[in-house]
Amino acid sequence: MGFKELREFMVNTQLIPRGIKDKRVLNVMKRVPRHLFVDESSQYKAYEDMALPIGEGQTLSQPYMVAIMTELLELNGNERVLEIGTGSGYQAVILAELSREVYTVERIASLAQQAEERFQSLGYANIHVRVSNGTLGWPDESPFDRIIITAGTPKIPDPLIEQISEEGFIIAPVGDRFSQQLLRIKKSGGRLFEEYHTLCVFVPLIGEYGWKE
Ligand code: SAH
Repeated sequence: MGFKELREFMVNTQLIPRGIKDKRVLNVMKRVPRHLFVDESSQYKAYEDMALPIGEGQTLSQPYMVAIMTELLELNGNERVLEIGTGSGYQAVILAELSREVYTVERIASLAQQAEERFQSLGYANIHVRVSNGTLGWPDESPFDRIIITAGTPKIPDPLIEQISEEGFIIAPVGDRFSQQLLRIKKSGGRLFEEYHTLCVFVPLIGEYGWKE
């Protein structure tokens, strides 16, 4: 099978049977070349049901986890989205396909730089990358309609809660260092509404409000 067929197979065997329904999410995951976000040596397993190493001890989440988090963001194409944990840039590209503007923050400069190169070579002008401690968000560009944290955290950092727009929401893997649960918090009428979703395992969010190195 070529990469295009592998993507179809991934969607049909990993995403649809586990309940991913949003057609836009399924279509974009059929299109985006996930294998270009990992080293050449891992490309052959880019469409398997697993997380992949991306260097610096970090990982790109398994396809299902990218899909469920994206589905829970309920994007309609007009949003400004903040992602914490750029990593390979794969999740950012999925978001960029489904929203208006993506702001993504990574603490490891070499990963941010590689991701930036991928955004340029694939032609994504609506993704903005910054190297900094994402637990503090991106105050100058806030508020955001959607925020996604792609690293595990003991709690959702307060600065990020503050940077959610009215009627916006945030999704993050919240729990202990080795297992978490997806938490979605909506802001509405100045109040916060929490909802827990699937169990998951992410690399740690490092920094103030996250974990110590
Ligand atoms: N979304 C990524 C996967 C992220 S892995 C992808 O699609 O490939 C989690 C990433 O979060 C790692 O790259 C890690 O360096 C980064 N990270 C951890 N703590 C962070 C922080 N405080 N601010 C920004 N990025 C952080």
